[in-house]
This record gives sequence, structure tokens and C-alpha cells, in this order.
Amino acid sequence: MAIRRVYLDHNATSPVRPEAFDAVRAAAGQAGNPSSVHAEGRRGRATVETARARVAALVQARPDQVFFTSGATEAANAVLRPGAGVAGRSLDRLVVCATEHPAVLLGHGFERERVDVVPVGPDGVIDLGRLAATLARAPGAIVAVQAANNETGVLQPLAAIRALARAADGLVVCDAVQAAGRIPCDQTALPADVVLLSSHKLGGLPGSGAVVVRNQGVSLPPPLLRGGGQERGQRAGTENVPAIAAFGVAADEASREVDGALTRTLRDRFEAELAGLAPDAVVFGAGARRLPNTSAFAIPGIAAETLVMALDLAGVSISSGSACASGKVGRSHVLEAMGVEPDLRRGAVRVSFGWNSTAQDVIMLVEALASVLDRIGTRTLSTAA
Ligand code: PLP
Repeated sequence: MAIRRVYLDHNATSPVRPEAFDAVRAAAGQAGNPSSVHAEGRRGRATVETARARVAALVQARPDQVFFTSGATEAANAVLRPGAGVAGRSLDRLVVCATEHPAVLLGHGFERERVDVVPVGPDGVIDLGRLAATLARAPGAIVAVQAANNETGVLQPLAAIRALARAADGLVVCDAVQAAGRIPCDQTALPADVVLLSSHKLGGLPGSGAVVVRNQGVSLPPPLLRGGGQERGQRAGTENVPAIAAFGVAADEASREVDGALTRTLRDRFEAELAGLAPDAVVFGAGARRLPNTSAFAIPGIAAETLVMALDLAGVSISSGSACASGKVGRSHVLEAMGVEPDLRRGAVRVSFGWNSTAQDVIMLVEALASVLDRIGTRTLSTAA
């Protein structure tokens, strides 16, 4: 008999929602290039524009402020390049937070000497004093700060960041990939000039994302992809209508979940159980404002791979806090930036809940964890990377 699997890795990718599946099927089943003027083309165009309105609504923007990309990585690559500007001024520097996703840290197009990295405190929150000092030294910069961290769920103080960036004639580009659909991302909750989004963290398809230019005064760099002039010239190439349709539907569904009520209950229950099972467990960023769905922790003496593999065998999917794209455990620049000791870092794992998580999932996770802890008994950092 197949064991029931429990998927608790929504920050890596969230399962496709049934409503998004339906949208893919419907869009894939209709012919029509959205640029064509015939009935089929107009239907494709209508599908794209409906999705655009839904994605815009998720971050309280106007549809004409959204352009679709192949994901948040492309969105970051497209925006974080020399040539972007605000109020007619070109911005020739980039300031990033140390815990940004590699899509930002490695995806930008600035020369190394034009990039400043601002540290975070032990709680994972950006050091606002250092940000202010950096901007005083080098005003007129794009400040790229994520809303929520993918490894720890720690939220950044975007209102304060934007005030500092504005006072220094800069603008804020916010990677809201993990925040969108999980916490409110309206203009007040997520004040940013440009917002980057990804569909597959919301329950849409991978390979679909968006740039949202909320501030009218922002001018983007020349487009990365040139050709047919789609997406108002910002991103050439025939639109991926099924993926865009799914993005719109997933955004719409997720917009009803931004109170985080379901995932917060599950996450808090899990962390309470964890404290009982392993009183020496450390939850990273526990003292900071965090996403409601994320729990990043380490149990001293237990290597991340050991825990991830043992839970996988028990039917529970979680991830190593420092898993890189290859799936291997690498160095977590996030935990390193937070000053977490290497031994503890090697034990970092992440549980992330989502739209289809249930109380039963927490029970299975806790039971599996309890049996792994019983079995491991003598605790060793056997396979430390
Ligand atoms: N930013 C964050 C915070 C992420 O978690 C991810 C995905 O892992 C990305 C950017 C990249 O998104 P995409 O997979 O759509 O390129």
C-alpha cells in the first residue's frame, strides 16, 4: 500500500491548485495567438488580460502596470540593470540586502563595484542604520529588498526601507515571491516602486512570473528580450497563455488566503510540538516578524540531510534550509548573514505550509519527527557538508 505523502515544501514550489489546472486545460485547449485579430486571437488576448487584472489586484496595482515574464528570476534580471531610473534620473548603483534570493544577488546586471550589500541582524532583519549610511554615501540607487525570505520567512520593514530610499533619490524593487498570496501585499503593507512575482509559489505553474511597476515615475532598463513587442514592448515573445491563465487564477485564489489563518495555525502548532520533542531546537528568525507558513529550524547535533532523508522515507517532504538548486546541501548565505554558527547551520531544515495543508499533515510530521529522533538516539553530525 502506498504511504500517504505529506508535502510541506511550499516555499520551494506549491502544488498546482485545481482551479489553476482547469485554467491551463481551458487555455491550452483554445487556439489563438493573443496578437492575432481573429476570434481565437481575441479570446487568447482576453485570457491574458483577465489574468493581468487578477495579478495586479493581488498587489493593488493597475493591470497596465503588470508585465508577464518566465518567472521571478527573469523579472529580477530584467529590472535590476543599469538604465533603470526614477523621475527622469538614471540610477547607476544597486543596494541589496545580504539575504536576497540568488535571482537578485546573481541576476542583476551591475558591475561589482556599483553594488552595496547591506547586512542583517541575528534575527534576519535588514540593518536600517547600515542601509541609511550606505545610501548617504551612494545616493541614487535601486534598493532591492525582498518582502519575505524564502529560507526563514523573515519579513523586511519595507516602509522604513522605502522612506530611506526615497530620501536618497532611489527606488525600491521588492522581490515579493514568498510574500504574495501569504500576507497582504497592498500598497500599505508592501510599499515598493516595483514588485517581482512568481506564479509557482502561489499554486500556479513554474515558468511564469511578473514585474509590477507600481510607481508611474519609474522607467525600466531596455528590455532583455526584444522581438515582436509583446507586453507593451517590455518582453518580446508570444505569451504563454496557459501559464498566464493559471497565474491569474492562482493569484485570485491566494488573495483570499492572505490573512494566513490556516498556515499560521498549523505552523504554530508544529513549533509548539517541536519545542516539546526537542527543547534545544532553534527556530531561525523566531524573534522577527515572519511569514505565517514558514518554520526554519535546526536541532543541534542532527544534520539537515539526515532529517530530510529520514522524513522523506516516512512520507514527509521538507527541505534542507540550505538546499541549493541541485538539491544538495550547500552553504546557506541567509543563515550565515544572520550569524548562525556553522554547526547549527548544517542542521537547518525548513517546513513550509500552503493552500492544501491540513492539521493531519502536522500530526504526520510530528509523529515522523518523533520516531526519527528516537531512532537517531545518539546525535551525530554524521554527514556535515
Ligand atoms: N525570489 C525568491 C524569494 C524565491 O523564493 C524564488 C524561487 O525560489 C525566486 C525569487 C525565483 O523565482 P522563479 O522560480 O519564478 O524564477
